Amino acid sequence: MSLMQSDDNFYLIPQNNERTCFEGFINVHGQEHQFQISLPPGGTFSQASVQCDLSLQQMLQGYEAVIEKRLQQSQDLATFLLELKTIAESQAQKMHLIMLPPPSYYKQLLTEIEELDWKNVSYVDTSLQQLHLRAMDQGGREHILKIHISSEHPVERPICTVDLPIPFNISWSSQTGMLQFLYKQFQNMLETLQDFWNQLDEIDSKTWILEPENPIRGASKRRIALGNNSSVQIQVDPKNPRLPPECKLLGADHVINPLNSRIGEWNPEDSILNNLERVLNVQFPSPANSKKEDFNMECGICYAYRLEMEIPDKACDDQRCGQPFHQTCLYEWLRALPSSRQSFNTIFGECPYCNKPITVKMPS
Ligand SMILES: [Zn+2]
Ligand SMILES: [Zn+2]
Repeated sequence: MSLMQSDDNFYLIPQNNERTCFEGFINVHGQEHQFQISLPPGGTFSQASVQCDLSLQQMLQGYEAVIEKRLQQSQDLATFLLELKTIAESQAQKMHLIMLPPPSYYKQLLTEIEELDWKNVSYVDTSLQQLHLRAMDQGGREHILKIHISSEHPVERPICTVDLPIPFNISWSSQTGMLQFLYKQFQNMLETLQDFWNQLDEIDSKTWILEPENPIRGASKRRIALGNNSSVQIQVDPKNPRLPPECKLLGADHVINPLNSRIGEWNPEDSILNNLERVLNVQFPSPANSKKEDFNMECGICYAYRLEMEIPDKACDDQRCGQPFHQTCLYEWLRALPSSRQSFNTIFGECPYCNKPITVKMPS
């Protein structure tokens, strides 16, 4: 069955050779709606019956007679479908107007925004239901509180979207002045996170962060380059940033093994960065004395960093090589070579880079 018609407005696929049955989609304000058209056997186009999905039915409700008349008058299916689209779109627009909040909503909201001060508003949409509020914290960092205000404001609580490392659970009651109260709660939340962001800002500015590439304010994890194809991943507790973070070391054994875990020496008075350097007995390479390319962590076989969820955490143990690989890539590579030897789930072979012995376990 070939496509009968396809453009931005609709498409239609014949369902049988007789071309009496069609299925397709019609585009109404950017949304596709499904419909079916069937003609009686041997019948003409004007006797067609049209069936459509529920949302399209709702839009066309009350217009059945008009649609039937258009069907009889239309020269062909394409003309009729364009008519159908026009009716549906004008109906959809009317339905949207009905859904807008009552005038009292706007009066109330404008008063609340005045109280808040317009200078704290970074964005507001034309329907006055999406509001973005800007807040500067003590450390001079800008934060945005995105609020979707209900048409039932202030009876119904708004939906807030924030970039924070902990959930933003708001207190709400159906009184006036609630937006200001909400903004205050956001500011208080920011203050409790100052030390968390101070600590991470120091790490971000003085080390090479391999992951995430551009950390958002809500990100509490960092993978920090240690040099020679090794790195440490930390996860900081936003509520207790000075406590020892969860640490995971990645890289060749000869680099990782000497990093004696002296976690007992962690000093909560000191910064995370200083603590990490002392406990791991390392000095992190920094933008002041190195280039990020020096800490290339790409897999030496597929030249990518991330392979599905896997990162290149298997590295050659030779001092001068240290090339990282995905476990899967290295396993597949070694398995294909006649020089490799397999014992149970481990393959013994040679590093594709330096030819020194390397082993890899079968990926689970
Ligand atoms: Zn790979
Ligand atoms: Zn190697």
